Amino acid sequence: MSDFRFVPGTGIPGRLGRTGVIATPHGGIRTPAFIVVGTQATVKGLTPEQIRDVGAQAVLANAYHLYLQPGADLVDEAGGVAAFMGWSGPTVTDSGGFQVLSQGAGFKKVLAMSTAGLASDDVIAKGKDRLAHVDDDGVDFRSYRDGSRHRFTPEVSMRIQHQLGADIMFAFDECTTLMNTRAYQERSLERTYAWALRCLAEHRRLTDERAGKAYQGLFGVVQGAQYEDLRRRAAHELAVAEVDGQRFDGFGIGGALEKENLGTICRWVNEELPRDKPRHLLGISEPEDLFTAIEHGADTFDCVNPSRTARNGRAYTADGWYNVDTLPSKRSFTPLEEGCDCYTCTHHTRAYLHHLARAKELLLYTLMTIHNERFHVRLVDRIRTAITAGDFDAYRTEFLGRYQKRRHET
Ligand SMILES: [Zn+2]
Repeated sequence: MSDFRFVPGTGIPGRLGRTGVIATPHGGIRTPAFIVVGTQATVKGLTPEQIRDVGAQAVLANAYHLYLQPGADLVDEAGGVAAFMGWSGPTVTDSGGFQVLSQGAGFKKVLAMSTAGLASDDVIAKGKDRLAHVDDDGVDFRSYRDGSRHRFTPEVSMRIQHQLGADIMFAFDECTTLMNTRAYQERSLERTYAWALRCLAEHRRLTDERAGKAYQGLFGVVQGAQYEDLRRRAAHELAVAEVDGQRFDGFGIGGALEKENLGTICRWVNEELPRDKPRHLLGISEPEDLFTAIEHGADTFDCVNPSRTARNGRAYTADGWYNVDTLPSKRSFTPLEEGCDCYTCTHHTRAYLHHLARAKELLLYTLMTIHNERFHVRLVDRIRTAITAGDFDAYRTEFLGRYQKRRHET
């Protein structure tokens, strides 16, 4: 376990936010860090060299997708997900729980709207052909690829993630939505805790069985929806959980979050979690959310949004985002973003990208993804620098003041 650890650095005075370094067998991750998503062991459209060039420190792949295709055993044979995809840096896998459970249930990570009046467990299943069924032992689900039946349990998820061989793995948890009732959230939390203990036991067993492989850090996932007592209890229980001498190496903050509660929930959870272990917030990328989560103690983030929106022609800039396929870009012989240091902005114009979008050319995906990933990685890098310099609040005011002023201009 000596090759996986977290060293906290400078804190934001009076708050939980901090810098730090996560040491892994494949190198360090300086935090806070934006981790790019490579669901199918590829950041869509980018070569590993291009992933490195946007400044990404780590890549997050998806256990559910790689289990279905090409199979975790094949990735194991290849030497793990990093070797398989030709990436030399740290990798992360999620447990597959979110993908398995969210099928047909209309899950969303951050909800901007209020869910008042929607609190019913029935709302979720109504009118939907659910592809997943959860019980106390695990989850039955159908493949989104061919409809074949599968079952994930904490033990199955641990085995898959050991075979995928990422430096950071997540415990298998039940992800609920904000529409579930309080009673359901309580039952679900008990189930997630029982699964967490089973993950620790299986992780210990597999680590011993696969002696000689690099140690993989296991993160427990804190659920509890929007309830303070549930979030705090879940965080505390996972912080002290120990099975056969095995404890969690870090923690994930999971579940759906309302945008306006994001900071509060991060604070509740991180007040309970130990200072010397890293905390990952799953699935956020909007600049406002990144500042809020970092202020309240989250260290790492991942999100598909930068690359997904890139493929639709959206460019993020310090002055908000715009779509490159609209008229203002047609004769704009300037970069996507003035002053951006990415490959796309130093080699191409908005007019060229506008043309690629209109002509539906594949190169659009690559060039837009390079820019958007660079934007998010660089933003979090600059926040880290600001924390070290004691300028977090000033940098947030400066950045968001400009970003929100001309936001969503097309
Ligand atoms: Zn750029």
